[in-house]
Amino acid sequence: MALQLFGIPVSRGMAIGRAVILASARLDVAHYFIDPGTEDAEIERLRTARRAVREELDTLKADLPADAPAELAAFIDVHKMLLDDRQMALDTINWIQTRRYNAEWALTAQLEVISRNFEEMDDAYLRERIADVEQVVERLLRALRGSAGLARSASGDGDLVLVAHDISPADMLQFKAGVFRGFVTDVGGKTSHTAIVARSLDIPAVVGARVAGDLIRQDDLIIIDGDAGLLIVDPSPVILDDYRLRQQESLLARERLKRLKFTPARTLNGDAVELLANIEQPEDCVAALDAGASGVGLFRTEFLFMNRGGQLPDEEEQLEAYRRVLVAMQGRPVTIRTIDIGSDKPLDMVDYRDGEFTHLNPALGLRAIRYSLSDPAMFRIQLRALLRAARLGPLKVLIPMVAHASEIRQTFAEFDRARAELRESGTAFGPVEVGAMIEVPGAALALPLFLRHFDFLSVGTNDLVQYTLAIDRADESVSGLYDPLHPAVLNLLHQIIVQTQAAAGWKGRPTDISVCGEMAGDPVLTRLLLGMGLRSFSMHPAQILAVKQEVLRADAEKLAPLVQRVLQAFEPEEQQEALAALG
Ligand code: PEP
Ligand code: MG
Repeated sequence: MALQLFGIPVSRGMAIGRAVILASARLDVAHYFIDPGTEDAEIERLRTARRAVREELDTLKADLPADAPAELAAFIDVHKMLLDDRQMALDTINWIQTRRYNAEWALTAQLEVISRNFEEMDDAYLRERIADVEQVVERLLRALRGSAGLARSASGDGDLVLVAHDISPADMLQFKAGVFRGFVTDVGGKTSHTAIVARSLDIPAVVGARVAGDLIRQDDLIIIDGDAGLLIVDPSPVILDDYRLRQQESLLARERLKRLKFTPARTLNGDAVELLANIEQPEDCVAALDAGASGVGLFRTEFLFMNRGGQLPDEEEQLEAYRRVLVAMQGRPVTIRTIDIGSDKPLDMVDYRDGEFTHLNPALGLRAIRYSLSDPAMFRIQLRALLRAARLGPLKVLIPMVAHASEIRQTFAEFDRARAELRESGTAFGPVEVGAMIEVPGAALALPLFLRHFDFLSVGTNDLVQYTLAIDRADESVSGLYDPLHPAVLNLLHQIIVQTQAAAGWKGRPTDISVCGEMAGDPVLTRLLLGMGLRSFSMHPAQILAVKQEVLRADAEKLAPLVQRVLQAFEPEEQQEALAALG
């Protein structure tokens, strides 16, 4: 009997595949398929690691001091026994032989199966013995790290989907070139950064599925419906066929959209609309250009700072990353955001997992520009790299989460200091425009301050919704209340756009305004945003063509009065009606 589970849909499309259950702590273990015909060599890799661990344990035991408690020796014996357990060895080898998993993956897959068996034991003492199995697997994984992996294969035997309690944004990024066709997590909200990275991978994903990790077993066949947020475990052949058909249809629809790549993004009434790309890594520029992006509207540079064991990228390394983006974008405008570390993107993921990242309320704490200004030397390394990169192409620097006049002053003072340092060392640099993200309601309500000091503004609707409605965007328990269509959010957004456009009068020059939150990439909202007057949208490359299709079908002049009705609708039914009138 098929089991249906619901979660929050975060990345569209359908995925059908076998479940790979991973404990969060093991997400950084290498997962790849080995080439057909190399199974025996991979099994030998595993055997060599096993021999190394056996020697390690023998040495440990031999080196025990004479007065060591007897339990220690017994403990080592238990580990040796587990290491030599025939069934565990055979089952692990089976993953390699039948699925062509690399040895590390085979070990973690088997560990997951064993963990489930232990969890079901009645005896608490025996249940806790899983810790011994984990320690042995840990030793084997360490031993495998010392041996080079064999050739990787591009594909395996059947599709796989990853099921985990939680996936950090940084871990998600590691799956970019990976083997998984879909993702499911127990926790997370629609605009959590994990969800955002899943969307940027353009792979169906459902988050906040609560008990999915407990109910789905290693190797279960599951369907992920990334449009509806539905998971079907062990589907009947009829349902499976139906979803295979839907999968084909959705692929075909995407193929059809590709025809729009070179079509200029203009509304029916002739307004040009800028469609920019959000990227997390320089490599994402390929997808941005493929989708016909007119530039990069948001490069989230904090991802350069993750998965590095606390070692931050220096000025040269950062310069190289920024250079790659500017060169790849071939003269198109590039907006690079200074790091937005903190909240659900802490710098050191080890701390995050251990629960040591114990700020009282990280979303309201030391985050984004606050974090950068708390470490001016680190901030200036980034600013110097950005200023140097500016010689290579049109570069705009975006400051996240700025809210206070004092932050604006300090930020520009750090820019001045960075320029002075470069001059002093005789290092060449170029001009940059500096912009502010409007993502704190306080900034939206004090917009003239930001209009006066910044060259451009970009609205971060993900955070603007979070802070306007006091809903943690990463918390699935309140995700039903995370509502980009809340009248407060829409009116705030409209006011930001209108005020920015009107400022051209008193500023004497226009201030560019863009939206780079997830709302900009949702084709359902394109007409609404156009009707509000927005003409610059920044989103994941995978969303650009669907949004362009909406732009091409829209008459912005006709939409403007209809949007006024939406903005004045405060009751849900009234709003639904007004939204429906937008078409
Ligand atoms: C936003 O808040 O809308 C945004 C684009 O920034 P991030 O999602 O990285 O917080
Ligand atoms: Mg933000």
